[in-house]
Amino acid sequence: MNNQDCIFCRIASKDIQANLVEETEHSLAFWDISPRQPIHILVIPKRHHANILELTNNAPDELVDLMRLGTRIASDKSSGSFRLSFNTGAEAGQTVFHAHGHLTSRTPKDQLA
Ligand code: AMP
Ligand code: ZN
Repeated sequence: MNNQDCIFCRIASKDIQANLVEETEHSLAFWDISPRQPIHILVIPKRHHANILELTNNAPDELVDLMRLGTRIASDKSSGSFRLSFNTGAEAGQTVFHAHGHLTSRTPKDQLA
């Protein structure tokens, strides 16, 4: 049950445009609108789950799909050094309450000699 008030649900349903990287049956990856590292891509489940805890508990297949997509893009785009992190709860810095992983890297593959 996707939610018109949720910005990432609206990106998942292509109602709002994002700079897409790749998608699978269950997951979508797109560039963060205000990147904090040379690679800063968000990976989200297409269905609405408020955070990584709910995604893990309620939809493990979607979780595995998301982690596979995030780590595959990390391998494609980075030197192999990257973070895949999930802010969970307002006090931890979560501002969008639709589960998402931040894939970040300071070492893009295409900038290595
Ligand atoms: P968090 O603070 O962990 O909830 O992360 C939310 C992230 O979503 C931030 O890094 C924002 O820059 C990013 N963001 C918010 N709106 C958009 C959007 N329309 N397209 C892409 N990224 C977005
Ligand atoms: Zn949502």
